[in-house]
Amino acid sequence: VVRSRLAPSPTGHLHLGNARTFLLTWLHVRAAGGSLVLRVDDLDGPRVRQEAVGETIEDLTWLGLHWDAEAGVLVQSRRAEVYAEAADGLLSRGLAYPCVCTRSEIGIAVGDTASSAPHGPEGPRYPGTCRGRWSTRAQAEAASGKPACLRLKTEPGQVRFDDLLYGPQAFDPSMETGDFVIHRNNGVAAYQLATVIDDAESGVDLVIRGSDLLSSTARQRLLQTALGLPMPQVLHVPLVVGEDGRRLAKRHGDTSIRRLRELGWSAAALLARLGATAGLCGPEEEVTLGVLLARYDLARLSTAPVVFTPAWLARRPA
Ligand SMILES: [Zn+2]
Repeated sequence: VVRSRLAPSPTGHLHLGNARTFLLTWLHVRAAGGSLVLRVDDLDGPRVRQEAVGETIEDLTWLGLHWDAEAGVLVQSRRAEVYAEAADGLLSRGLAYPCVCTRSEIGIAVGDTASSAPHGPEGPRYPGTCRGRWSTRAQAEAASGKPACLRLKTEPGQVRFDDLLYGPQAFDPSMETGDFVIHRNNGVAAYQLATVIDDAESGVDLVIRGSDLLSSTARQRLLQTALGLPMPQVLHVPLVVGEDGRRLAKRHGDTSIRRLRELGWSAAALLARLGATAGLCGPEEEVTLGVLLARYDLARLSTAPVVFTPAWLARRPA
């Protein structure tokens, strides 16, 4: 039996893009007779708004996307000790090491400047400057006078896995990100570490999330191997983008579920707009989750990004 999770990040309002990912997660898991854990991914420091936790839960409930209460709720900000212990374990086994490089130092080391050389959202590839320099965080901090993060050693090699929608994948994290951060220099766990520990803790055996995280699966596989954790199956779903091809955001207008609800949209009408993007109904149809569930079929999903246009919301059902 499948177990997956809904893992909202309370950094803003739930919008149509996140809602689509959560709807597909819910449909896929319910169609398989599986269960859902709720997890609050609130490690993103100053971007997290505590009131957004309750608002997101309210929005998910309004849409009818329920999780299984007996499966428990994990709140990442309350699990700092668990993550720190795992990170320290990797350090003491020589699989991770302390690093005191700043972002700009890494940029200079790879011949990059802030405005040139395109790189991913996670910055340029880390060249391994601090590898082998210190064996503990305290040594690194005393010697450099700077706070240290911990990085996982990544050796060259392809990490292969199958995505249920995108098919066979191969990434080489040593080429893409290099030794990557697992515990930040402010003492907070990095997303990669927290997510693999929590997935194992809550028995998640299928991870469903946005396709922007597809390549991060390879880094998570390395961490799962290092920590001796099980490797869940993965299903990435395309993101909703604006007509400019960029991920749906404020610049495309307010598409928050909260705002649309205030404007008089019903859950059924919004579900239809979202269900239509997965080939499950017509955009003007009013559907229940039960109808979408009965029609759900992974084979109908495409890997093409879903393009949001203002026309989606032009005609509000009376
Ligand atoms: Zn370094």
